[in-house]
Order: sequence, then structure tokens, then C-alpha cells
Amino acid sequence: MRIEIVAVGTELLLGQIADTNSAWMGEQLAAAGVASHFHQAVGDNQARIVLALRTALSRSDGVIVCGGLGPTQDDITRESIAEVMHVELVRDERIIERIRTMFTSRRRAMPDNNLRQADVPVGASIIEQTRGTAPGLVCPVGNKVIYAVPGVPHEMQEMFGRAILPDLRRRMAEAGEEAVIKSRVVRTWGASESGLAEALADRVEELDDWSSDDGSTLTIAFLASGIEGIKVRLTARAPSDEVADAVLADEERRVRAILADRLGDIVFGVDDQAMEDAIAGLLVARGMTLGLAESLTGGLIGARLVNVAGSSTWFRGAIVAYDSAIKHALLGVSPGPVVSAQAAEEMATGAQKVLGSDIGLGITGVAGPDGQDGQGPGTVFIGLSLPGSEPLSHQLHLPGDRDRVRQFSAISALDLLRRALLAGS
Ligand code: ATP
Repeated sequence: MRIEIVAVGTELLLGQIADTNSAWMGEQLAAAGVASHFHQAVGDNQARIVLALRTALSRSDGVIVCGGLGPTQDDITRESIAEVMHVELVRDERIIERIRTMFTSRRRAMPDNNLRQADVPVGASIIEQTRGTAPGLVCPVGNKVIYAVPGVPHEMQEMFGRAILPDLRRRMAEAGEEAVIKSRVVRTWGASESGLAEALADRVEELDDWSSDDGSTLTIAFLASGIEGIKVRLTARAPSDEVADAVLADEERRVRAILADRLGDIVFGVDDQAMEDAIAGLLVARGMTLGLAESLTGGLIGARLVNVAGSSTWFRGAIVAYDSAIKHALLGVSPGPVVSAQAAEEMATGAQKVLGSDIGLGITGVAGPDGQDGQGPGTVFIGLSLPGSEPLSHQLHLPGDRDRVRQFSAISALDLLRRALLAGS
């Protein structure tokens, strides 16, 4: 079953409002296992709405048109549907009564304009209005269907759930094609989008013509998410929830194995697991505590860590040692430049000592726009001190403005710690 959404309203084309209705319906259709290959937006013009509806019907099994059911002259969705169906509009007395009652209950007279909302194409059935004045419509066109719903989001959503979804499910059951679509996101950090695409290219191609015995299909897509890394989205279409979960779990294992083999430990979580959740899991599993010494990040790393519920069991705290004097006095950093590998390592061991933690993580660098200690903006040193081993450090050259450098520094430091914990396990 393929459904196309047509959003009606000149204000959508002019960018005066965002088409959140199509996004909402798209999500609902996907969750119900209904394929949607196209969305259209069209202005309040009958010829163009008719063209949009005909185009949609030519390539889909049904259309959901939203908007343009109001009482004013530019609300012409009803007329457009009647033209596509080659039928007349007839005024439905029961709808008029309902609209009139709605107005009288608010002690107002019904304007004549509202009579237009009682016009129904011959052969269509109505979706009763419960919230606004406009009823929705279910309009058969041959063996296909046009559903019309108001543009006001809460009215549209209520009718979608009450009438459209059940009708779509019935049609899918009749056609023997009930299905669910589920996604899982594998989250990575440290590889480029093209690197990921290259590593998974063979698998993506294999999946193009893969379908399991029960008809399940899978796709892989890449989504960049700024400083939070790159997501690999696995989407399964399957006959039931259980089968979709099993297909996704299987594919997640395969994708993790391919990535580990080609690109190392780049996967830090799935779905809404953030980098700090990965750190929490690793520290809890090892029964270890962490202390931070932050310079250019000014507390960003600590703030991320305390996002995780229960962080007090493994996070000792952070010393924001911004001024050089504080680095020397509080953390025992040696005299000399404080943007250096040595300073980062000494900050890590200093944090370990002062905060009494098993692990110390220190970060120092130049957020910009000016340089410091002969180092240019974006130069960052991360120091890490693990129990029973010499401190180590890692140097980064980060692009971007001050904010970006600081955000990148924070997640880079957490990722360095994550990899070190994995390597030590
Ligand atoms: P009503 O019958 O209640 O008058 P309608 O079917 O005439 O509704 P429109 O006049 O097209 O709907 O839109 C009413 C309002 O709904 C718009 O001003 C806008 O705020 C919102 N709206 C319409 N279409 C969309 C859309 N695609 N996405 C988000 N909001 C929308």
C-alpha cells in the first residue's frame, strides 16, 4: 500500500508556515507499515490541486490531502476532489445541522460561508468533525482513495487516528500486506560519512535486492549529526513487530562487526544513547571512578556526564582550571606553557589526586579566536591517566569557531576515554 500526502496551502509554498502535518503523517504511516514515496505541497489553486491529486493517484494507491477544507473562498479542496472524481458536490443537511449547533452553543450565528463546509462529492463518505467545523472526507476513486482532512494540526491528527489509519489497515489486510516499519540507529564517532559509506557499501548493495522468506526488507542510510558523530540508520519493513526487532538486531550485529573490522571501535551506542551513556556503562562495569580537569571546555565535559542518571556513583567531579595559575597551584602542573601535552597529562594526574578518582582526564587547548603559547586556535591536548599506568596524551587540531572547538573538544575527550577503557578491558 503506497500513500501520497498532498498538503494544500499557499502559505506552505511561501514558507510562512512549515509543513509539520506532512512530517507527522509521514511518521505515522511509516510506523503503520504504509509506504510513502512522495509528498507534495500545492497552493490554493484548483487547477494545480487537481493536477497534484491526479499525479498522486497515478503513482500511489491512495492520497491524503490536508488543508483547504475551511469556509472561505480560497478553501477549494472539496471542489478539486469532485473534479478528480468527475462528480458534483451535494450539500449535506446533517453536516449543516452539526455546524449550526456548534455555532449556537457558542451563542453565535452561523455565517453563510460555513455552508460550503457541508458540500460533499457524490459517492464520498464523511469523517465527522468533532473538534473544528470541517468534516473530513473519504472519497473512492476507482479502486483507489482520497482522504481529505483539515489543515489545523490537532483536527487533522484526531481524524487521522480515528478514521484514516483504521481504513488503511482494513485495506492492507484485504490486500494481505500488513506490515510494520521500524528503525534502529547505530551511532558512531571518529569516522567520516564517506568512510562509513565505503565500509558498508557492499552490505548496502546486497540489501538492495534482499528480502527474507517472510518478506522482510532492510535499508541502510547515513545521517550526519554535527558534533555528535554520524548515525547509521537501519530500517526494517517486516510482517510483525517481533520479526522487525529480530531483523534489526541481526543487522545491528552485522554492521557492528563490519565497522569494527574496517574502522575500529567507532560505534558508541544505539538510538538515543549518547557518548556520556557509553562512558557511564564502561565505568560502572569496571567499578571505576572518574575525575576531570577542564580548561578550554570550562565544565562542558562535566555537564555532559551529569546528564546521566546515577552519575554520582562513578563521577567524582570536575575542576575548571581556566587560569594558568590555577593549573599550577591546584593541579600541580609544572611551570611553563599550559597548552602542551605535558600540561594535559599533569592536569589528568592532578585531577586524579585532588578528586581521589581512579581515572583522571585533563583537557587544555586554544578555543580561539586568538592563539596562545605559540599554538593556533583549535590546538587541543587531552591527557588521560589510568590506574597503574603512565599518563598519556593526544593532540587534536580542530576546525571551526570557538563554540565548535569547545564542543568538539568535549566529545573528543570522552571518546578517547571510551576507547582507552575498551582497549584496557
Ligand atoms: P479549517 O477547516 O479548520 O478551516 P482548513 O482545512 O481550511 O481548516 P487551512 O485553512 O488550510 O485548513 O489551514 C488552517 C491552519 O492550519 C493554517 O493556518 C495553519 O496554521 C495550519 N496548517 C495548515 N496546513 C498545515 C500543514 N501542512 N502543516 C502544519 N500546519 C498546517
